[in-house]
Amino acid sequence: TPVPLQGEAYAPPRPPAKPAVFIPVSRTPEIQEERLKLPILSEEQAIMEAVAEHPIIIVCGETGSGKTTQVPQFLYEAGYSSEDSIIGVTEPRRVAAMAMSQRVAKEMNLSQRVVSYQIRYEGNVTEDTRIKFMTDGVLLKEIQKDFLLLKYRVVIIDEAHERSVYTDILLGLLSRIVALRAKRHLPLKLLIMSATLRVEDFTQNQRLFTTPPPVIKVESRQFPVTVHFNKRTPLDDYSGECFRKVCKIHRMLPAGGILVFLTGQAEVHALCRRLRKAFPAYSSRPREKEEEDSAEAMRKFKKSRTRARKAQAMTLPQINLDNYSVLPAGEGDEDREAEMDDEEAALGSDLDLDLGDDALGGGEQLDASLPLHVLPLYSLLAPEKQAQVFKSPPEGTRLCVVATNVAETSLTIPGIKYVVDCGKVKKRYYDRVTGVSSFRITWVSQASADQRAGRAGRTEPGHCYRLYSSAVFGDFEQFPPPEITRRPVEDLILQMKALNIEKVSLGSSNHIPVLRVKQLQQSRLSCPITALGRTMATFPVAPRYAKMLALSRQHGCLPYTIAIVAAMTVRELFEELDRPAASEEELNILKGRRARVAQMKRTWAGQGASLKLGDLMVLLGAVGACEYAGCSPQFCQANGLRYKAMLEIRRLRGQLTTAVNAVCPEAGLFVDPKMEPPTENQVTYLRQIMVAGLGDHLARRIQSEELLDNKWRNAYKTPLLDDPVFIHPSSVLFRELPEFVVYQEIVETSKMYMKGVSTVEVQWIPALLPSYCQFGVPLEEPAPIYCPETGRVQCHRTSIFYRVGWPLPAIQV
Ligand code: ADP
Ligand code: MG
Repeated sequence: TPVPLQGEAYAPPRPPAKPAVFIPVSRTPEIQEERLKLPILSEEQAIMEAVAEHPIIIVCGETGSGKTTQVPQFLYEAGYSSEDSIIGVTEPRRVAAMAMSQRVAKEMNLSQRVVSYQIRYEGNVTEDTRIKFMTDGVLLKEIQKDFLLLKYRVVIIDEAHERSVYTDILLGLLSRIVALRAKRHLPLKLLIMSATLRVEDFTQNQRLFTTPPPVIKVESRQFPVTVHFNKRTPLDDYSGECFRKVCKIHRMLPAGGILVFLTGQAEVHALCRRLRKAFPAYSSRPREKEEEDSAEAMRKFKKSRTRARKAQAMTLPQINLDNYSVLPAGEGDEDREAEMDDEEAALGSDLDLDLGDDALGGGEQLDASLPLHVLPLYSLLAPEKQAQVFKSPPEGTRLCVVATNVAETSLTIPGIKYVVDCGKVKKRYYDRVTGVSSFRITWVSQASADQRAGRAGRTEPGHCYRLYSSAVFGDFEQFPPPEITRRPVEDLILQMKALNIEKVSLGSSNHIPVLRVKQLQQSRLSCPITALGRTMATFPVAPRYAKMLALSRQHGCLPYTIAIVAAMTVRELFEELDRPAASEEELNILKGRRARVAQMKRTWAGQGASLKLGDLMVLLGAVGACEYAGCSPQFCQANGLRYKAMLEIRRLRGQLTTAVNAVCPEAGLFVDPKMEPPTENQVTYLRQIMVAGLGDHLARRIQSEELLDNKWRNAYKTPLLDDPVFIHPSSVLFRELPEFVVYQEIVETSKMYMKGVSTVEVQWIPALLPSYCQFGVPLEEPAPIYCPETGRVQCHRTSIFYRVGWPLPAIQV
């Protein structure tokens, strides 16, 4: 039975209904002067009065009006935080949570022990914390442990207009929590803050708020922005177009910062490089030093792998599916990340080709009289580098920030007079029925384009250059669709189940989930979360991967599962080599590199059991070999691996190891990047773990006698897709064509391709994936006996039918 929620089990001291104390803050005169310029300062009294009178209020105001930095300060000064009830602020993006906590601490002249932040795995929260900035995912995770959020006196949901999925869910939950807290006379204040758009999403939703909360509008002094459309819309090369536009502005127009909007990290870097080359400001940095010899490291890895394999006895291993309860339920204190940043990471690495300086059209050397102070800005940029954009540029230079969407509403960069908007945004699209997801660069919405333009008019009249025509703009959607409509929801459902949420409905027109919470103390639910589910919910990864981790405390598999999960999360380990070549010479180089990558994949896949683990073994082998080589850039370069991806994997392995240790200290895992290769038996266990985790991604090859038409040659059938899917040519199992496989994902290009493929033994299906099986008419006596307790079949012969109805050959179980 599910554990009763802790929030119900104890009653903390009551915070005063109305704060009486005024807490003085000593700000520096410079800060005070800057603050007084912010439009929100004139609304302080209105906001505080509304907060005192209403449990829920909405504050909306133009980006840069001071909502994020000032409202928490108002509340703090008015005494809305104490030792055991603090002010919480959620942000959809990590960048904002970190940057804003630093900024607010600085403005208030307080240390980060008092104004702190918490993002997925890191933060600086202490017992002295009074204002806590966090990602929305973090607060959602906290609700799991403390349903009534008793630690908080006020919760501020910032950037609600972004309609990030966790923010939406939080709104659904908080609207209920506020009511529950009021009943217990422990009032919680909820502030919803948004830019001046979509406010009706919140006020007009009667299922969310029975009485619409009061809206306080912050009038801001926005200066006029002249919008210039391109006559024609460039088809592909918007990066090049951005470059030309920045050059023109810089050479011909009066002083004032430039802000460029691009779609992703790789583009941002490429444009920064190109601009720095054209308008040099600093000498370039010396190249990093050579590291360990990669060939030597590779040899060592292979040798120790062979040794380990030989030492292994040949027994048929079988993983124990019930062996997960060793991980105590509900104890993990790691936080699920704001999905948005992960996407950005995934996308960044997906498309992060090192384009080199010339890929955007050449190393132009332009008139270099006035240096351009070029700075990148994207969500995964190191915080100290992010902070650069808030500083004034060096004397005699012009600031040029090349940013992704983060600069649209989350962060306000001072001194911007010109905005260059490529009009595109990178988004993840997800087909809920088929589970096929794809990342696409699409046009932004009109609301986003206007937000971007608005960035130019903060301090004086400005200009926005849109690299598309006004006709194209007319066709943009009005608002971007809420994130919840275009991402997988399994993890959310698992989280909701772990919260004993009985019902989530998305029926309302604006998709903010409306939640029905079962009586809190009541532990019997119609479909309660299982112990496995509860364990899974504590891991900060998607449910499929969480299941793998939960099952891996057997046979020493955890370090390997962690490595594989980390590698799967980082989308693409290998260099992208499918790009079209510009010249004969480049084509030959690409061919050579492709051959090298294919060879390394074969090497890492190995033979026997390890080849059956397929592409997942390749991931493990690549990570193992690379770490033996000290994860050097040279090793990666020589073996076709992306250095950045490998660093990211190392970081994730560290984080996941910490997460597992937190849930299960007796696992005693070391955060040591080097690992011995798995033994033959361990590889077989790993294969089963992967099958258990990726079970809903099972596919069966259509046998030649079943061929209906040629389009099914070498094709696989999955339960949900009607069309054939194929093993991706980059897979090490491309030629092997095993009968049953599980795959990591399906991507659609010219055909539907499975990536991250691993072989499944047919006899594992009833044991590991019993829900797929129906036990049909036995071919011979005795009849099969299916034992629901163990999930095992005790019989000699049966035929198993796939749910969707294509028969499997009778197999021995
Ligand atoms: P909003 O949340 O309404 O968009 P903010 O509170 O984020 O507005 O920003 C208010 C002001 O504070 C802006 O002028 C912004 O430039 C400034 N600001 C925010 N962070 C920093 C920082 N780290 N350094 C300097 N100024 C900052
Ligand atoms: Mg803000």
